[in-house]
Amino acid sequence: MKKIIALLIAAMFVLTGFAALAENGTLTMCTNAAFPPYEFYDEDGNATGIDVEIAKAIGAKLGYDVEIVDIEFAQCIPGVQSGKYDFAAAGMTVTEERQQMVQFTDTYATGIQVIIAPEDAAFESLDDIVDANGSVKVGVQMGTTGDLYTTWDYEDEGKGTVDRYANGAAAVQALLAGKVDCVVIDNEPAKNFVAQNEGLKILDTAYTVEDYAMAFAKDSAIYDDFNAALNELIADGTVQAIIDKFIPAE
Ligand code: GLN
Repeated sequence: MKKIIALLIAAMFVLTGFAALAENGTLTMCTNAAFPPYEFYDEDGNATGIDVEIAKAIGAKLGYDVEIVDIEFAQCIPGVQSGKYDFAAAGMTVTEERQQMVQFTDTYATGIQVIIAPEDAAFESLDDIVDANGSVKVGVQMGTTGDLYTTWDYEDEGKGTVDRYANGAAAVQALLAGKVDCVVIDNEPAKNFVAQNEGLKILDTAYTVEDYAMAFAKDSAIYDDFNAALNELIADGTVQAIIDKFIPAE
């Protein structure tokens, strides 16, 4: 009898696609590793950052290794939904639209959408550019909230165009080349891009404030344990210590 029950349970795991996860003890995390300090490559070519370290700490607590898979941000939600990856940790903002597609953990960090502009720019907001030029050309990373919000507020309103790039670095290159007036992106990556490239600044006007969370398929078997472990690491200060390591106090 015990054997039959064990077989039935094994069959259930196979059917739900969690056999690999349960057997080899590895969770696959998808991300876009061009989003410092949340995910990026260190000097040795290893993926690191706030999301990577928090995910690994949760994995360690639950007895799993975490394998990082670097893909385009816009592919993270479809990849999680289809069961290709166990979860996404990508500085991902919780939005109502995304909640229709995936389930989010509790929030572990906050992001702000900010505007990067040329250092000598006279404007302080996207509306200033519209007022001065009649329209604005915004660069964004495809599929991000920066993309969504500027599309709604400017492109859909006939006040400008949104150029969508595969990652934030490519959007910043377009700004440096004068192809767009500004880039709308999350504040911490923005600080990194401005520090790495001459001639750019972050405007004082923030665009929106957002909550970051990790995303799981709605039928994920590991979600409850993962979220519980995340909350323990928030409560015992581990998450804050990881954030402080990558975002030094100003
Ligand atoms: N926070 C933004 C979003 O969720 C950008 C995330 C990212 O580019 N990795 O859309």
